[in-house]
Amino acid sequence: MSAQLLDGKVMSEALRGEIALRVAALKEKGVTPGLAVILVGEDPASQIYVRNKGVGCEQVGIHSVTIRLPETTAQAELEEHIRRLNADESIHGILVQLPLPKGLDEAAALAVIAPEKDVDGFHIQNAGKLLNGLPGVVACTPKGALEMIRRTGIDLNGKEAVVVGRSNIVGKPMAMLLLQQNCTVTMCHSRTVDLAAHTRRADILVAAVGKAKFITADMVKPGAVVIDVGINRVDGKVVGDVDFDAVREVAGWITPVPGGVGRMTITMLLANTVEAAERTLHA
Ligand code: NDP
Repeated sequence: MSAQLLDGKVMSEALRGEIALRVAALKEKGVTPGLAVILVGEDPASQIYVRNKGVGCEQVGIHSVTIRLPETTAQAELEEHIRRLNADESIHGILVQLPLPKGLDEAAALAVIAPEKDVDGFHIQNAGKLLNGLPGVVACTPKGALEMIRRTGIDLNGKEAVVVGRSNIVGKPMAMLLLQQNCTVTMCHSRTVDLAAHTRRADILVAAVGKAKFITADMVKPGAVVIDVGINRVDGKVVGDVDFDAVREVAGWITPVPGGVGRMTITMLLANTVEAAERTLHA
């Protein structure tokens, strides 16, 4: 039987409607949520992501600014832009589009962002809060993926969750969020021995590897929730880390690529920006 589709476009439309209402409520109180995106260099994928973020902001009424800097930008200059935005009261969220060109220090740049404006949730303070179970800004991709998992209606208590990939921006925060939901979490990576033995146990399987069609049908437990974070370009087409056509015959729920986690990621960025603006009312 074919898996049920977890459609990121449909979920996002509903969520963006709710976000737009929160933006309208903020505007009535004199606050227009503002997001600033810093884009350094000409990376084509980054250009597309930044454009989509701008479209999302416009859709819900968030004021968005894109600061485009040349590839030759020095670290000090980049950090100066971030500091200026930290001090700008019309900006509630700051996002430095990654990856940065070679020669720029991503970790150092992210550390300069004021944690309360870190709408990507990459600042070490927000990552640490997640680890400690404290309220903070949660990274958009895992936050969106968890929202999709929740919408299956499955009781997550005690479920086996397997996350393939251990990056700071996806794999690790995803594992922490699933742990908070009382899943029993296994993290897999490139040194994992017999990966399929782990993935086949998963009630919830999250793939964040960056390799096209890496998760095959024989690696999936029948009825599992399969969340495909991967974005890979093959022959001009965007495909995920999951062999979608084959895996959908085994899984219970599956996210498509495109139109899955990627769409939800931008929606969570909008939500994080609105939350940051709402916090200024209570500050
Ligand atoms: P990284 O390259 O930072 O991490 C990839 C992870 O996959 C690493 O932990 C690596 O292990 C692991 N890995 C690599 N090969 C294997 C293997 N053979 N077996 C098991 N694990 C393996 O990528 P990101 O986390 O940044 O991104 C992952 C994917 O998600 C990419 O396709 C990216 O484009 C996409 N992405 C999508 C987003 C969205 O909005 N949908 C947002 C962010 C990313 P090790 O640590 O041992 O090297």
